[in-house]
Amino acid sequence: MRPTGKLHIGHYFGVLQNWVSLQKDFQCYFFVADWHSLTTEYADPKVIEKSLVDMVIDWIAAGIDPSMATLFVQSHVPEVAELHILLSMITPLPWLERVPSYKELRAELTDRDLSTYGFLGYPLLQTADILLYKANAVPVGQDQSAHIELAREIVRRFNHLYKPVFPEPETLLTAFARVLGTDGRKMSKSYDNCVFLSEPSADANKKILRSVTDPARVRREDPGNPDVCPVYANHHLVTPPARRKEIDRGCRTAAIGCIDCKKILIEGLDKELAAFRERRLKISKKPEEVRDILEEGMKKAQKVARETLGQVKEAMGIS
Ligand code: SF4
Repeated sequence: MRPTGKLHIGHYFGVLQNWVSLQKDFQCYFFVADWHSLTTEYADPKVIEKSLVDMVIDWIAAGIDPSMATLFVQSHVPEVAELHILLSMITPLPWLERVPSYKELRAELTDRDLSTYGFLGYPLLQTADILLYKANAVPVGQDQSAHIELAREIVRRFNHLYKPVFPEPETLLTAFARVLGTDGRKMSKSYDNCVFLSEPSADANKKILRSVTDPARVRREDPGNPDVCPVYANHHLVTPPARRKEIDRGCRTAAIGCIDCKKILIEGLDKELAAFRERRLKISKKPEEVRDILEEGMKKAQKVARETLGQVKEAMGIS
């Protein structure tokens, strides 16, 4: 995960809950992708340092358990840079140019110049992140599956050119929960529509009370349409199906108002996030413990990384 600012409830429901369940079934490596952040934040990298520890606090408060998974910072294991450069020697340029997100993100992030080598090469850095730990599976959404395909192609090329060192990583396609922001668009820092995990529940609830609903429902007595309402869309995160059905009916007949509806959502979110908030408060008072966890994770990750890198060089005949 890239440290580019505070995490919001979209991260909680979309990513962290998934990680918490994955750590029970897999030997997981979760890392702070600080070098990846530099590919887009190179002009103002302060945000990386500022959000790094805070982000890991969110992970742990959400239930990521350092005794089950390895947590570390990408740049603390510089072996990844060495593997990246070695892999870059065997990666044909068109393989990188045709990665769909390369063109898409360049078109989307028009406020910065992304015509850099680092940005073009970031899927290759991801490949190095994956291969360094000989990952068998990588949890990604549909939009990132092309990156795993690239990693698989590079594995095949490397294993064919030298000798089999890497397993081909599988794509662990994950249905990420879709969380909408207060303006009805996808929750995202760049839209300024987020409910942050670190903000007190009173502030978070105020934002939800102000969030947009079905624009055609102007007065309390107007019937609404939950199918076009972002508040209703977010109910699936915390509201049980039977209750959602009641809300649906109540909205269409104007039996409930938007404030009542939002209060039900707030109640559900408060209940879901209560344990998270309590843990977050406790952990955030001891950032040094988080740094210790990251140092411990670095040692574990580095041990594997060095072993893999040794095998890579040996296979290439450059050890
Ligand atoms: Fe949306 Fe709920 Fe209002 Fe209906 S009642 S428009 S679902 S906020």
